[in-house]
Amino acid sequence: MGRKVWLNGRLVSPEEAKISVFDHALLYGDGVFEGIRSYGGRLFRLEEHVRRLFDSANGIRLAIPLTPEEMGKAITETLEANGLKDAYVRVVVTRGVGTLGLDPNRCKDSAVFIIVDKITLYPPELYENGLEVITAATMRNHPNAVNPRIKSLNYLNNILAKIEAIDAGTLEAVMLNHQGFVAECTGDNVFIVRDDRLFTPPIAAGILKGITRDEIIAIAAELGIEVREENLTRYDLYVADECFLTGTAAEVVSVVRIDKRTIGSGKPGPVSRRLADEFHRRTRQ
Ligand code: PMP
Repeated sequence: MGRKVWLNGRLVSPEEAKISVFDHALLYGDGVFEGIRSYGGRLFRLEEHVRRLFDSANGIRLAIPLTPEEMGKAITETLEANGLKDAYVRVVVTRGVGTLGLDPNRCKDSAVFIIVDKITLYPPELYENGLEVITAATMRNHPNAVNPRIKSLNYLNNILAKIEAIDAGTLEAVMLNHQGFVAECTGDNVFIVRDDRLFTPPIAAGILKGITRDEIIAIAAELGIEVREENLTRYDLYVADECFLTGTAAEVVSVVRIDKRTIGSGKPGPVSRRLADEFHRRTRQ
């Protein structure tokens, strides 16, 4: 079975899956997307991802030419057509082909495509030993610009922060918000543990409302671990007992060094491990 891409209602080969150079997604980053994992052939939190996609589209006044139910079916169909059980699914909605000039009303038909692939965000040994990160000088989008809750096709701030991380010899960067508080990483949400309590920035800090973040908050509550959504400074990260990141692609990964400060024991901590183990159990059960 060859690889298939879902493009505007048809399953086509990757070679046939083409988008116009006049699509405003390419010209202006005008569009939205989602990343969804499947475990053992089951799409994890599909409904939540489809909902967020429609919310993102609504946020940029983009009409998706499918109902949420049709979108869910298309995603499932594309996964099955690719014969992968453990996969990463990318769903993209573009503004469509338009004229040169920003006016989205001149774009007639939005394009929808769905790619099924594999993804490894960080090397496997870092899941055992933890990750080193820096804080980036590039800040997260101001919530009154493109709100970070919108998963838009414009990730340039995050890409600039990622470049800073790579330049510093690390793989990931913590981005601060316009007030100097911790927002999130370039593609992951941030948690810390201090005195057996879990802390994570609130949505109002200007972050993506991560579906993995929601899952970890729910797991913590079930395990009787207190969770607080509070503004955090860089210093709060430095003096944390534990730190970890969450995301669909990253899953749950510990951070053991931030800006050259060792976090806790310098190894993934017990609370993070418990939460990660329970996350793995839920996704793979
Ligand atoms: N923050 C950003 C900026 C992201 O792009 C993502 C998703 N890649 C996340 C957080 C994590 O969100 P989720 O758990 O829903 O994948």
